[in-house]
Amino acid sequence: MWKSVKSFTLLGKRWKFRNVPPSKCIQVENGKIKKLDGYVKHDKQIVAISTGVEGCDRLETVIHEALHAAFPWMREWIILAAAEEIARLLWRLGYRNIDELDLDVKR
Ligand SMILES: [Zn+2]
Repeated sequence: MWKSVKSFTLLGKRWKFRNVPPSKCIQVENGKIKKLDGYVKHDKQIVAISTGVEGCDRLETVIHEALHAAFPWMREWIILAAAEEIARLLWRLGYRNIDELDLDVKR
């Protein structure tokens, strides 16, 4: 399980953060169901991340959706590239979800 964050501020706007099951993280496009790792609802100011995404992919998804929330005009290919590279950098620097670490010592 991930640290519980209910809301956050991004560029002065208040957003709700939701962990959603993969079954609720879908999009219907041309009659076909498309699985998503996350999504943004600008009208309700919600950033949602699938609970089915873990590790560096989850870090990348959070960055990706936060970029969509902050810069709705930004093109998808830019967000894809930026989120991937920022996530890779943070991962190399050791940023992890505390619950994903295999800690032997209790704090
Ligand atoms: Zn996107």
